[in-house]
Amino acid sequence: MSTRNSLWDALNQEQDEQTIYRQALDQACDYLAGMRERPAFPASSAIAALSQFDEALPAGPSRASDILALLHALGSPATTAPNGGRYFGFVNGGQLPAALAARLLADAWDQNAGLQVMSPIAAKLEAVCEVWLVDLLDLPAGTAMGLVSGTSLATLCGLLAGRNALLQRQGWDLRERGLFGAPPLRVVMSSAAHVTVRRALSILGIGSAQIELAAADEQGRFDVKALPQLDERTILILQAGNVNSGSFDRFEPLCAAAREAGAWVHIDGAFGLWARACEATAHLTAGIELADSWAVDAHKTLNAPYDCGIVFCRARHELVTALAASESYLPVGGGRDGMLYTPEMSRRARSIELWAALKSLGQAGVDQLVAQLCQRARQFAQALDAAGFRILNEVVFNQVLVACDTEDMTRRTLANIQAGEVCWCGGTDWRGENAIRISVCSWATTEADVERSVAAFVVAREQARGARA
Ligand SMILES: *Cc1c(COP(=O)(O)O)cnc(C)c1O
Repeated sequence: MSTRNSLWDALNQEQDEQTIYRQALDQACDYLAGMRERPAFPASSAIAALSQFDEALPAGPSRASDILALLHALGSPATTAPNGGRYFGFVNGGQLPAALAARLLADAWDQNAGLQVMSPIAAKLEAVCEVWLVDLLDLPAGTAMGLVSGTSLATLCGLLAGRNALLQRQGWDLRERGLFGAPPLRVVMSSAAHVTVRRALSILGIGSAQIELAAADEQGRFDVKALPQLDERTILILQAGNVNSGSFDRFEPLCAAAREAGAWVHIDGAFGLWARACEATAHLTAGIELADSWAVDAHKTLNAPYDCGIVFCRARHELVTALAASESYLPVGGGRDGMLYTPEMSRRARSIELWAALKSLGQAGVDQLVAQLCQRARQFAQALDAAGFRILNEVVFNQVLVACDTEDMTRRTLANIQAGEVCWCGGTDWRGENAIRISVCSWATTEADVERSVAAFVVAREQARGARA
């Protein structure tokens, strides 16, 4: 019998597999070696050069080594640099070296994390991560974990479990009877809730008329005085880490009121839930353990690679029942079957790099990582304040909102910062005012990076003044 693989022969065109993988690893190492000095945001010429990808699907195969060379030549210069130390856009997070390295190996494994029988190693590490994270984040014993792409999906899963559980308690079996005609539920959240929460609610069939928006205070926290009467038909959505100010809702009174009323509490803790794993910031999350479901990203504050979101649910059966899927050919049971905790079946094995990130840091390392991000944010705020910028938020975590004397100056200064290549920040609208938004969320950011970035802010403002004069 022939062992020849004619497809491979056609594609590889005399190249040996190992050579191609080594080429890819060499290019990755080359890229990573230049990481700290590359621009935080790609030059416009690099972005313009991406038009070279605009071609029709080739009629025939291309050599792998040529594909890699093209990607490295055109793709590498057109990347943003979240691991370079001076990228402060959105809330993106870098990646820890051990986690990236584990991912490189895991990519070679190509494991499907749907069922234990599909990947014993992925299942084992997922089970280990569940135990570690419930402990690290000090969540109730027995809390279940599901690994998804990000907090968008984690929030969808948490709210799904909540919606179904509340309806079940009303005597409505949603799996049998569906959503149409079900008793109405209420959703209470603050006007500062993240856009992905609104999207999740809409996917779940909860319309804006069913959402009661409470006021947020001047830091974007749920105004406790604005909490309406809750009941057993209510989902209360709270936030650990406002996407602009980094502020935390006051969980103790809010969660206690919800428990008392039999409401379901979901926490959007995309980057802020990690505050709980750091001695200096844990107080910000006091009372959060009283919630029912939590969403957090490992790819943000923890610095695991993309994409890695996590849903936690206090009542394991509520999450598993809401997501239930079974078929005779699926040998569920007897181990950690990851698909039971997510809406997906086939998934890449995120547990591998999540485990590597946690293993490489340990408890002390997570503490230090979170503390360092907060420290750099405070350094930013102090230095910018001293340089005459206005700091618009209380810097309690990793986010800093900055403005100049006028909105026009803020806008021009931000444009100059973005064009300057030293560092990169985005803009936002904060309480009706246009602001520069700094998010310190990469382990790679040093004190010197902050100093260099502050200097770039000052230069950018000088240029803005010069251009106006
Ligand atoms: C980033 C973020 C989200 C969305 O998370 P994804 O991982 O991008 O899906 C939701 N809420 C908050 C507060 C965030 O910062």
